[in-house]
Amino acid sequence: MRVPDDAPPTCPVCGVAYDSVSEHDAGLMVNLLDNDAYRRICFDPVAVDGRPHVRFYHHTHGQVADGGNGE
Ligand SMILES: [Zn+2]
Repeated sequence: MRVPDDAPPTCPVCGVAYDSVSEHDAGLMVNLLDNDAYRRICFDPVAVDGRPHVRFYHHTHGQVADGGNGE
């Protein structure tokens, strides 16, 4: 996993501030049902050196609890 240094200041999917971003080049499982830290993760597909990756934008409960959730 590579943490990109060119990530935008807000989530490109929902436009809300995020807590952290991670980048993946392989499949993985996400389960937030019992996650105390994060309420939502947005997935943004990107190309890195011509190869497909997906960036995960992690939103805390506080960041999406004010209705600015784009849902
Ligand atoms: Zn988002």
